[in-house]
Amino acid sequence: MLARKPIANHAAPGASRASVPPHRASDTSELPLLALQRAIGNAAVTRLISRTEAAAIQRTPEEAFKNFTDSCTCGEDLGNNCAHYLSDAFIRAGYSELDGGKGGLYRRKKGRTVCKHGRPVRARELETWFAAKAKQKSKKNDHSKPGFWAVWQGGGTYWGGHVAVHEHKGKGTPHDVRGTGDYPQWPTQNHYTW
Ligand SMILES: [Zn+2]
Repeated sequence: MLARKPIANHAAPGASRASVPPHRASDTSELPLLALQRAIGNAAVTRLISRTEAAAIQRTPEEAFKNFTDSCTCGEDLGNNCAHYLSDAFIRAGYSELDGGKGGLYRRKKGRTVCKHGRPVRARELETWFAAKAKQKSKKNDHSKPGFWAVWQGGGTYWGGHVAVHEHKGKGTPHDVRGTGDYPQWPTQNHYTW
């Protein structure tokens, strides 16, 4: 099969760019949003955007489970990292309400103690936030309630307790966990989901 020769640029010598007609608003280069506004009207576009945003911010503990990196963007190891690294996962997942912004270590921000990158670092303070968000609560590590649960575990050796996210997979199946550890043997197993 014969390969086609590339077509040479036949622009006449001396032809200037000024001879190219200017783009019109109806060109395909128009922004999609502008085209949509032209087609269905401004009010309809506004309604569409607010519906899309509402859908986008319906997050669950599953997003934190998926965004857990066992680290924080601040790069610091603070010793007791359970809340630090778990709150980093929630903030990575888009829970900007938890984000305390940048500043000094162990500042108080929005009622919580935070790291240099604004990640809450106290397990009990993170549990207070879980409790405020929760649509469902459970006092035990009940595998018959499948789904993703933000968990505070207490009554163990450490007064502040421990936080993690569990994935319950149904009765008879062990749960999966994201966090710096898991203490299902401790007496308090407060589970929250939304
Ligand atoms: Zn941090």
